[in-house]
Amino acid sequence: MAILTVENIEKSYRIKKDKKRTKLMAVHNVSFEIKKGSCVGLVGESGCGKSTLGRIINGLEKADAGKILIDGVDIHEKSRKELSCRVQMVFQDSYDAVNPRYTASQIVEEPLKNLTKLNKTEREEKIRKHLSEVGISESEWNKYGMEFSGGQLQRVCIARALAAEPDLIVLDEPLSSLDVSVQAQILNLLHDIQKEKELTYLLVSHDLEAVYYLADVIIVMYGGQIMEKIDSMDYFNRMQHPYTRMLLASVPGYEDAGGERENNRTIYKDMGTQLEGFMGCPYCGRCRFATERCWNERPVLQEVEKGHYIACHKETSHAD
Ligand code: ADP
Ligand code: MG
Repeated sequence: MAILTVENIEKSYRIKKDKKRTKLMAVHNVSFEIKKGSCVGLVGESGCGKSTLGRIINGLEKADAGKILIDGVDIHEKSRKELSCRVQMVFQDSYDAVNPRYTASQIVEEPLKNLTKLNKTEREEKIRKHLSEVGISESEWNKYGMEFSGGQLQRVCIARALAAEPDLIVLDEPLSSLDVSVQAQILNLLHDIQKEKELTYLLVSHDLEAVYYLADVIIVMYGGQIMEKIDSMDYFNRMQHPYTRMLLASVPGYEDAGGERENNRTIYKDMGTQLEGFMGCPYCGRCRFATERCWNERPVLQEVEKGHYIACHKETSHAD
């Protein structure tokens, strides 16, 4: 059963480029589902539309077209409060995400005040429970947000998300601003609480390796579009989109994927592949396999084997 259904989401922003008004296609025709209790990893480098999609799912931003369904119901039929009870977010920069004048307890109490009818004593009990769950010891419950290290404050933010008792947590680059040693601890924590509470995650990251550890499904995005999707981690070794291969080459143990790695000397220029009017593949400006067709025709996501989808003319031309 899908807890979240993302259907043909489109989002563009009006921008100015070279003094001309144009539109930047931040998310193009993105569709996928998340099954209850699973983790979908959404991977791609900065600017590919991950956060925009996360904000749309969380109702913080409105799509130009398409639908977001939670348990089959359009999120726009739900009130802000109803949606917050189902979907919570954890952001990259925890210092930005909290009120620095709040203590850890007050940070976790916020959703309890806003979303539940619990009285003070009941709230305190929940605060203790959730802070303990994320490994914040009692001596730190009254520390202020800004007094915590990045990793500890991210734990508090996770506790705040848990306090709403949501079904789905959108984790938007939850590890990116943390030291490498701390990243592993937070990743372990996310793993443990997911299993314990049967939570559903959308894990947004530019780091394929981090996603590999938690995800059941991987979606690779580039330039607002899904480039590759695997519905089972059994296909991880067979991911083959030129862009995915390039990302894979930076994962230890997968350096061999570097056979198709980007030529480092290729100076990538923004070739406007995300701007209004461009009809080709968003990745074509960087792809060493790009042909005329790639510049002119946007590849659509096609199933190349059961549960494995690719949007690439090179990989799917035999199936045309
Ligand atoms: P990611 O999270 O993958 O780094 P974003 O979703 O933040 O990517 O952004 C996708 C694209 O949309 C980027 O090119 C970004 O510059 C652009 N963008 C995001 N928000 C806005 C906005 N409010 N106005 C104009 N452009 C935006
Ligand atoms: Mg982002």
